[in-house]
Amino acid sequence: MTVEPCLIIDGQARATAARFDVINPATGVAFATCPQAGAEDLDDAVAAARRAFPTWAATPIEDRAARLLAIADAVEARKAEIIRLLSTEQGKPMAGGAAGEVGAAIMWTRFTAGLRPEVELIQDDATARIELHRRPLGVVASITPWNHPVLIAVWHILPALLAGNCVVIKPSSYTPLSTLLLVEIAAALLPPGVLNVVTGEGAMGQAISGHPGIDKIVFTGSTPTGRRIMANAAGNLKRLTLELGGNDAAIILPDADVDVVAPKIFAKAFGNSGQTCAALKRLYVHDSLHDALAGKLADLARAAKLGPGDDPESQFGPVQNRAQFDRVCELAADAKARGGRFLAGGEPLSGPGYFFPLSVVVDVTDGMRVVDEEQFGPILPVIRYHDVEDALARANAGENGLGGSVWSSDVAAATALAQRLICGTAWVNDHASLSPAAPFGGAKQSGIGVEFGLHGLQEYQQVQVLRVAR
Ligand code: NDP
Repeated sequence: MTVEPCLIIDGQARATAARFDVINPATGVAFATCPQAGAEDLDDAVAAARRAFPTWAATPIEDRAARLLAIADAVEARKAEIIRLLSTEQGKPMAGGAAGEVGAAIMWTRFTAGLRPEVELIQDDATARIELHRRPLGVVASITPWNHPVLIAVWHILPALLAGNCVVIKPSSYTPLSTLLLVEIAAALLPPGVLNVVTGEGAMGQAISGHPGIDKIVFTGSTPTGRRIMANAAGNLKRLTLELGGNDAAIILPDADVDVVAPKIFAKAFGNSGQTCAALKRLYVHDSLHDALAGKLADLARAAKLGPGDDPESQFGPVQNRAQFDRVCELAADAKARGGRFLAGGEPLSGPGYFFPLSVVVDVTDGMRVVDEEQFGPILPVIRYHDVEDALARANAGENGLGGSVWSSDVAAATALAQRLICGTAWVNDHASLSPAAPFGGAKQSGIGVEFGLHGLQEYQQVQVLRVAR
């Protein structure tokens, strides 16, 4: 990376007069600064992207795909540097979480490079030949969050570029540095203006969503911010892909094998310290298994090793930022005040950084904040149920509908129930596993549109019908 991280606009590194601190969440102390972009930087980035668009859109897809593959190779060559930076600013352990995220980003890049949209034949008869083509949209703006900053940037940028669009990305102000490095690496392999990065807090996001030179926004983050972006994007009818919050439920049927499912559920609830949109966030367990499963999850939670990302012993990192840490503490205190019993964790750890232990809470139910609200942190509420129809109704309540799962030794029964979950992805004996080929998106207020695979690619394209009269 350049000595001081810079914006990348029109293929050039750009320093800014103003800079802001980036905090290491394991210490709570600033470890670096990030350039603070202004309105002029955004205008320049959008103008550069618009200038680059006609040539990039006209570049054969095979050539665009070759650039994507070159980006994957370049990222792989510098992955140690990216992993260290990601771990330091985000908090996730280098050895597990950060290395896994960067590895997934490389894999996703290569897979995306292999996608090829097909021309669809709609009609071919004596009256007309009608074909459905897909064209790029123009300038795509990506706004990313702080939980998986590198992987989500790749999810946004790479399909947009393959489809022939130019991109301006704005990372979260909590985790901007790994994205600046990623863009520095990628932009060096692309024509000037095809990929640009600006930085800044909510006001910059707001300026992006209202910018008349941007044709589409792809956003991953909270539902309230998604609503603001949607309202603000109406001026020029921007296309939107919104990947928003989730409060995913899992239903454990009475015939599930507790020893088999406990470690899997633990991994899917607490991976990335619970800071994943499709993490398992509400666990509905049949009365007959409730105590055994909650006890096993608590044992696993107590045995987990929390620590800073650069300690090879660390399995889980801190909560990423102070505001989120305060929110997690608040939800735990509220659960306790309302009769919740913590079998593991429940209190923030003393010492530096935003460390909250992996926590399992029972004697909680719907109507309590820790169940109704997305915790986005390391607390798992375990909710007892007696009647599976009641559990399903509770799983389907609320405004979210990102994912859901059913766990059972009877795969057919679990599959039938999973199909009745109102959500974008329904898993059976699994949760939060994603594939670059399978579309991922939310039902209800968990989002609009999908990412990944050909369905995801189409979100960066405009349908054009070509009708040739006979
Ligand atoms: P936000 O949704 O507010 O932030 C995500 C991104 O949006 C960041 O880049 C942020 O910039 C940007 N942004 C903020 N305000 C605006 C705006 N008005 N217009 C456009 N962009 C904007 O998430 P928070 O960091 O505030 O986290 C709050 C909650 O969101 C968490 O508690 C969690 O529940 C949820 N969340 C969900 C995620 C998911 O993957 N679904 C990811 C992250 C959070 P900046 O950070 O620079 O202000």
